[in-house]
Amino acid sequence: MKILVIGSGGREHALVWKLAQSPHVTELWCAPGNAGIAEERLRNGRKVVCVDFAADDLPSLLGCAQINKTDLTVVGPDNPLALGIVDLFQANGLKIWGVNQKAAQFESSKVFSQKFMEKYGIPTASAGTFSEAGPAKAFCATLGGKCVVKADGLALGKGVLICNNQAEAEKAVDEIMVTKAFGAAGTRVVIQEFLEGIEVSLHALCDGKTAKIFPTSQDHKRALDGDLGLNTGGMGTYSPTPFLTDAQLAEVAKKILDPFMRGCVAEGIDYRGILYPGVMLTKNGPKILEFNARFGDPETQVYLTRLENDLVELLDASASGTLAKHELKWKSEASVCVIMASGGYPGNYPKGKPILGLAEATKLPHTKVFHAGTALKDGQIVTNGGRVLGVTALGKDLRAAQAAAYAAVETIQFEGAHFRRDIAAKAL
Ligand code: AMP
Repeated sequence: MKILVIGSGGREHALVWKLAQSPHVTELWCAPGNAGIAEERLRNGRKVVCVDFAADDLPSLLGCAQINKTDLTVVGPDNPLALGIVDLFQANGLKIWGVNQKAAQFESSKVFSQKFMEKYGIPTASAGTFSEAGPAKAFCATLGGKCVVKADGLALGKGVLICNNQAEAEKAVDEIMVTKAFGAAGTRVVIQEFLEGIEVSLHALCDGKTAKIFPTSQDHKRALDGDLGLNTGGMGTYSPTPFLTDAQLAEVAKKILDPFMRGCVAEGIDYRGILYPGVMLTKNGPKILEFNARFGDPETQVYLTRLENDLVELLDASASGTLAKHELKWKSEASVCVIMASGGYPGNYPKGKPILGLAEATKLPHTKVFHAGTALKDGQIVTNGGRVLGVTALGKDLRAAQAAAYAAVETIQFEGAHFRRDIAAKAL
């Protein structure tokens, strides 16, 4: 099969790396890819080819798939999904994996998701949705000001403001709805009660009828150790988490996935792709904070290092509606991914810093360095983004995986590199 992967981050490197292991793949392109993706090879010895089209340049991506006669396109990021890349490719008779535009609304509109959860009895925070600032602020007051104000639309992961009191809540509403800090994404807001508990990431692969749950994982969103500092795209992950047993996970999956799939059928939403709910384990049971409609980053890095199945077969089954025939198989080993970021991230950061020690890290057993923001410049791999590398290792348990991941991190240097030293520590 000829496959095109869309995206350029650590998630896409993990997808490419896993797809490249499949005997089904004869050629693989990635648009636009990164320096690590360009080094991957298929089982037949061919190199993965990076093509310089942006992930949201839908006409060029369609042209690329048509010219190369690809058999399957795999979409990594949320933006092209929300723009309708799946609908466009299907209308042109091309097979593509990912959710269509209607299904992408679960991520692209928090108002849509919140209303869906309430309609179909999916456990979530008590919440209100508003298109005017006055009533929004009055609702915050009913929650004592301790609430979470969320811009409806996609806001590069920044449109969620956590408030401790009414003054902060009113400021948040003004920022989103009046000053329009997140542009049109802030035309409407969802305001949720603030939930306390342990946050975990769930993933399920769906084919329109069937949903297959993955093991648990946990992300580390804050920039600094001890969950301090600014929110980021994710500074590290591990899988599995000890906070849910397999039996509890199965129960949570039932409470979420059964009504979710039923609701999709009732609403005429053909959900084929990944459903990735953010879940708070509260003392009153699990509650959904939000839905994402694609693989998490860096969750993908720990999931795909643990996955035993052929990923081409699974994604093909998800796109074709034949997932019921497949059983997901996972390595018993734990996986830990530590993100190495550019100095200054998630604020401003420099680019073009040479990365040293990658060859040494690659020689370490059970370790894979996934590239996120990297580029090749004059034969040298350099930094090219906020999150630079996802250093990922397997181990017989979380402690061993954590030690192996950090041993690999120690071999890698670039100017200003920063990473958390406590990834997976909560679980140990
Ligand atoms: P979201 O993009 O909606 O998942 O929100 C981003 C982050 O904000 C989540 O990962 C949580 O850490 C936090 N968050 C969102 N909603 C709530 C809530 N209702 N209560 C507590 N924390 C929340």
